[in-house]
Amino acid sequence: MVRRKVLQIQAKQINIFGIVQGVGFRPFVFNIAQKYNLKGIVYNNSSGVYIEVEGEKGSIENFIKEVKENPPSLAVIDEIEIKELEVKNYKNFKIVESKEDEGFVPVSPDMGVCEDCLRELKESNDRRYRYPFINCTNCGPRFSIIEDIPYDRAKTSMKVFPMCEKCEREYNDPHDRRFHAQPVACFDCGPSLQFVGEICEEDEIKCVAKALKEGKIVAIKGIGGFHLAVNALDDKAVSTLRNRKKRYGKPFAVMMKDIEQVEKYCILSEEEKKLLLSQRRPIVLLKKKGGKLAKGVADGLDTLGVMLPYAPVHYLLMEEIDFPIVMTSGNVSEEPICKDNEEALEKLKDIADAFLLNNRDIVNRIDDSVTSFNSGAERIIRRARGYTPQPILVKKDTRVSVLAVGGFYKNTFCLTKGPYAFISHHIGDLDNEKACEYYKEQIERYKRLFRVNPEVIAHDMHNSYFSTQYALSFDLPKIKVQHHHAHIASSMAEYNLDEKVIGIAYDGTGYGTDGNIWGAEFLICDLKDFVRVGHLEYKPLPGSELAIRKIYRTALGFIFDNINFYKDFVEKFNSKELEIISKQIERKINTPYVSSMGRFFDAAVSLLGVREEVLFEGQGAMELESLIVESDEYYDFEVYQKDGYVIDPEIILRQLYEDYKKGVEKGIIAGKFHNTIVEFTYYLALKLRKEFGINKVVLSGGSFQNRYLLRRLMQKLAASGFEVYSNSKVPCNDGGISLGQAIIANKKLEG
Ligand SMILES: [Zn+2]
Ligand SMILES: [Zn+2]
Ligand SMILES: [Zn+2]
Repeated sequence: MVRRKVLQIQAKQINIFGIVQGVGFRPFVFNIAQKYNLKGIVYNNSSGVYIEVEGEKGSIENFIKEVKENPPSLAVIDEIEIKELEVKNYKNFKIVESKEDEGFVPVSPDMGVCEDCLRELKESNDRRYRYPFINCTNCGPRFSIIEDIPYDRAKTSMKVFPMCEKCEREYNDPHDRRFHAQPVACFDCGPSLQFVGEICEEDEIKCVAKALKEGKIVAIKGIGGFHLAVNALDDKAVSTLRNRKKRYGKPFAVMMKDIEQVEKYCILSEEEKKLLLSQRRPIVLLKKKGGKLAKGVADGLDTLGVMLPYAPVHYLLMEEIDFPIVMTSGNVSEEPICKDNEEALEKLKDIADAFLLNNRDIVNRIDDSVTSFNSGAERIIRRARGYTPQPILVKKDTRVSVLAVGGFYKNTFCLTKGPYAFISHHIGDLDNEKACEYYKEQIERYKRLFRVNPEVIAHDMHNSYFSTQYALSFDLPKIKVQHHHAHIASSMAEYNLDEKVIGIAYDGTGYGTDGNIWGAEFLICDLKDFVRVGHLEYKPLPGSELAIRKIYRTALGFIFDNINFYKDFVEKFNSKELEIISKQIERKINTPYVSSMGRFFDAAVSLLGVREEVLFEGQGAMELESLIVESDEYYDFEVYQKDGYVIDPEIILRQLYEDYKKGVEKGIIAGKFHNTIVEFTYYLALKLRKEFGINKVVLSGGSFQNRYLLRRLMQKLAASGFEVYSNSKVPCNDGGISLGQAIIANKKLEG
């Protein structure tokens, strides 16, 4: 009897990889080991968490099951390695000091306040009642305060706040929720708020609330930087913010107190609710309804970007007011978001009437993330706070480390190391000096933080991009990657596709291998190469960049060969300008040729009189989508052969214009226009499947941010048995191409 019992004692070594440090993993392991009466040790090492356990076979199995299935809320387990071990007869289970070496582990993103902390924040007997920096191992700032790894208080901006006795006790107690919570703090020892504005006798939060109620603009220091906040129901306040910030057109995001308030203004699905409530706390794009916000928040659109409070200071503030607030990045024009007190006081002085500062430094500035739910999955639009720097697991160990520098608009960069692709947070358009400086600085930071030493650089084919120029300045081997191939590869990487697929990339602008501007491309591709097998017919873009803003120029380019048909439209223009545009087209002066979906949308928008000029790229397309009256009708289209399949856009525009002249409702026309794109895309997908015997379709490119287009096209393709993939974890817009570049470069290096 005794003998059998001895035989059942086993020992296992367990290595856990992923975001497992700084998220309460060791106390979690300690507690389950206690529960199953297991002996052994747990510690952090350079690759994650290392565990040795001894005990009965069944107990060890239960232990492993629980580790896998029920990890701490902020942990992300990428892999678990289990090995047999000699029994060492441990006497108990212990948390052992970390073994520090030159390795790296992924750092957790910043997370919104957890339920437990929220309870304490509202509990008047708690010592952290209304403490604006409350946090624990399950929540709070991470990436935004970290200077280096391993993640330890001394390497964060919390290092200047020595813990008081009570905090230190919690920090050192494995049974406490704040065990090794690096930003742990309280009123006695931690950071504090400071209000700068008109004299106000109340506490800082109440002073901010008072200013907002009076229609003032307040700059509020949050987790990743400053926001400019204003009452979202106050027309005048919102328009003042637009004027002072010189931000016209682009919609503002709004912070709402809770789900109940969101439901007053937006239609909310269960999935969208989950995204709103997730600890990542992104801005979620929701369909508007009923409750009216101020003019100027998100005019002309049927969607609204909404987020819930995520920093303790937001919760405290939202308790004091009964209206939603606009929360826009605290920056001037397109520069990076302000993060330091002095910087904000200086740069935002002409915009904000008051400031809510604090003395905890932000090390890494990071914008709010923007996401949405569509066609069965989360579709991220801007990947930043709450998401980065969590890497994308690309499974196959990459042999060499690559720095992919990204594109131009909505830039991100990407570093690969082993099975990880560290795609950076949203940097922004690289069209101003400040953004370019920030971009270079962040590349260096990521390299250091994740111990990546790139051996190869991947870049876009467009030579005048700042990112390309930067790539060329390195004395390292370089790999050029075509823009749309990178889009498709970004999506393939997410789903671990490593085979030939039908890639359909719809966007605004990307440099083609023939020197023209591409943007509606059918590719037969794998991760290494592509063949372009179809596209929208090339059309002239008179004035190039100018036409992207003045979209009637684009429209004229698209209809130029058949201009007499569009008499009423053409007659609207000043004859002098028309003459110049015609000459530009005829003589090809500053008139590139484009096969772009974005420009096709612009042409339709202009012909329909929705608007003649846009304030930002994609504005016209967003408004056209917002007009849609759903139907199954579509326009006739024509596809002909010329080095692959070519779709004629003008024939479609002609029918659209005829409808418009007949007085058909714009919403109906908008629906038919979208449906036509779905139809010709589907038609070509069928042809390509037949020709190449490929059943997997990958959709990417910024035009697929169009929810209607993505939903209808995915449905149509899936109904015909296609396996359809589109970006979810990384943006389908240019914020995703750095990942695609990195994956393609890695594949090419395999030879
Ligand atoms: Zn917490
Ligand atoms: Zn304290
Ligand atoms: Zn693109």
